[in-house]
Amino acid sequence: MFIDPHAHMISRTTDDYEAMAAAGIVAVVEPAFWLGQPRTFVGTYVDYLSTIIGFERFRAGQFGIRHYCTVGLNSKEANNEELAEGVMEWLPRFALKEGVVAIGEIGYDEQTPLEDKYFRAQLALARELQLPVMVHTPHRDKKQGTSRSMDVCEEMGLDPSWVVIDHNNEETVDETLDRGFWAGFSIYPSTKMGTVRMVELLKKYGSERIIIDSACDWGISEPLAVAKTAKLALENGISAETVRKVTYANTLEVYGKSGQINELDWLNPPEIDQRTLYEGNSILRGGREPRIEAPGSRNRDSLIIE
Ligand SMILES: [Zn+2]
Repeated sequence: MFIDPHAHMISRTTDDYEAMAAAGIVAVVEPAFWLGQPRTFVGTYVDYLSTIIGFERFRAGQFGIRHYCTVGLNSKEANNEELAEGVMEWLPRFALKEGVVAIGEIGYDEQTPLEDKYFRAQLALARELQLPVMVHTPHRDKKQGTSRSMDVCEEMGLDPSWVVIDHNNEETVDETLDRGFWAGFSIYPSTKMGTVRMVELLKKYGSERIIIDSACDWGISEPLAVAKTAKLALENGISAETVRKVTYANTLEVYGKSGQINELDWLNPPEIDQRTLYEGNSILRGGREPRIEAPGSRNRDSLIIE
């Protein structure tokens, strides 16, 4: 059983959902992020948040995957002040909706003053609402940007055990763990962090506060990255307990603090009936046979991956 704690499923296909379910992924966390195309109206951002909380959760459920999300104003679009102000007004309402497990992904992109302003404002909101935080660390000036992100979390009074610092690498992991934060690793198919490098990190650091995700989105990315890393780790002699923590239990522990994600959600799942409609439409096309599965037909044993 795996959880992918960082997956932008709105840009993935139904084939991906089927493959993820077959690989043992029982739940995904979809962080609010940017779409590749900058949004020009607050309303489009609000509709996006409604989509990841509403329709995408429905769509995942039709493939037997439980779907959670994080809501936030991403760092790139924090630089559009008018949009940012509007999104900040809406965020508290979305943060309290069912299935929202954290504020995120927030943080720095180019480390501008506006990014800093809205990062801090959202950390204050997370603290006020007692929600965990998912921090996106910048790809440029990564080491310094990661340190700065943690400095600001501390300045804003957040408990590091409530904060996941994502997109770590060999250069950032020591500091992230030493300061008591959770260290997320996004496993990409070619460049950046790959499965082989991740296995080396697991050998060195073990499982404490380490979380593996795919960060799959509209770019070249791998929705099966969590399952593939688990397989390679087991083949390389990493213990099953370590693998279980970094691909499942740690995510549950940190985002479980929100009270919105619970193991029973997938151990005792609702039925799958692909004939179900959402706003008048189902996911079925072209006379396809619907998949219909009674509640409780899966159990813990059936979800163990060999
Ligand atoms: Zn992301």
